[in-house]
Amino acid sequence: MKIHEYQGKAILAEYGVAVPRGKACFSVDEAVAAAEAIGGEKWVVKAQIHAGGRGKGGGVKVADSLDEVREHATAILGMTLVTHQTGPEGKVVKRLLVEEAAPIQAELYLGLVVDRASQRVTVMASSEGGTEIETVAEQTPELIHKVSVDPKTGLTAAEAESLAGKIGIADDLLPAAGKLIQALYQAFWDKDASLAEINPLITTSDGRVIALDAKINFDESAMYRHPELKDLRDLDEEDADEIQADKFGLNYISLDGTIGCLVNGAGLAMATMDIIKLYGASPANFLDVGGGATTEQVTEAFKIMLKNSNLKAILVNIFGGIMRCDVVAEGLVNAAREVDLSVPLVVRLEGTNVERGRQILADSGISVINATTMADAAEKVAAAAAGA
Ligand code: GDP
Ligand code: MN
Repeated sequence: MKIHEYQGKAILAEYGVAVPRGKACFSVDEAVAAAEAIGGEKWVVKAQIHAGGRGKGGGVKVADSLDEVREHATAILGMTLVTHQTGPEGKVVKRLLVEEAAPIQAELYLGLVVDRASQRVTVMASSEGGTEIETVAEQTPELIHKVSVDPKTGLTAAEAESLAGKIGIADDLLPAAGKLIQALYQAFWDKDASLAEINPLITTSDGRVIALDAKINFDESAMYRHPELKDLRDLDEEDADEIQADKFGLNYISLDGTIGCLVNGAGLAMATMDIIKLYGASPANFLDVGGGATTEQVTEAFKIMLKNSNLKAILVNIFGGIMRCDVVAEGLVNAAREVDLSVPLVVRLEGTNVERGRQILADSGISVINATTMADAAEKVAAAAAGA
């Protein structure tokens, strides 16, 4: 789950990470009032969307007066912000963050990820902040320093300060920088984050170390442990089809191919996508209807898939284990009758009561291309999509 920068900063502040004073705003007037309340003579107006690269896209602007705050807020609020992370269609800005501007001395990078290979949290830091870390990783990988954190001890002060030293933070700022990095690690750990990126982490001309940006993603499988995070979800930033699927207990992810996939079990769903690729086509979605899908769920799944204008064919790949193939077939028939099936439908059923299931499909009068093996199904659906 992703959250906005201002929400991430609020969490980090609770853990003692230094962040600029600021306020989230939903209107221009609110933005000007926030700047006035914050005080000072320099502010930053920042678009809040679930994507990075806002600065380059015109979504982060420094203001030298309240009039300029109004000007920038007017320009940014409601704009369609296009960045390298939003895709060409961009995202409409509906929220702003107004902050006191910081006197930047150096822009550094700090990032935390879960490293699957070592099964630990890796802390990454670089002197090359403010730019895309992917570019640094490609062109000057020696400028990225890493610590693989022992989960038993957590990130120690010595490790944190040593890392801060390697990215060029001055000796007198090392204790403060070390504390900030440790606090970030603790927040990451406690909240079951999957990613935390501070880009830039800055040092200021008046000797402070501050998190100037904050991008935090959480592990959705751990959300049950964090009821406090639920309210931070911004549905405006999420895929409408995925939200709808979630309501029906479907595990659905939009992709950019042409083959709709309806599969039971995440493993089989992954394998189905792989074999579709092998046969030269691309999946339009990942969809796991689960072990005990109902007719209602199958119908909803069809509806969601059919909304996609790129869809050229649908592959239903069900293994009847606990679930019986005849029940699945009944569900399919009911679903196909309820929705207008405008694309070819390839069905592969295997497992318990498969003969009865196939018979139900055959008797239904619905136009179905039957498949036997995974390869047969993938070949048939790729051909159907190419011909459609
Ligand atoms: P991103 O482009 O989406 O990653 O947004 P950031 O929050 O990282 O802001 C982009 C850039 O705006 C930063 O790298 C800074 O150069 C600049 N910026 C952000 N806040 C301030 C600030 O308080 N003062 C100054 N001078 N520049 C800022
Ligand atoms: Mn940034």
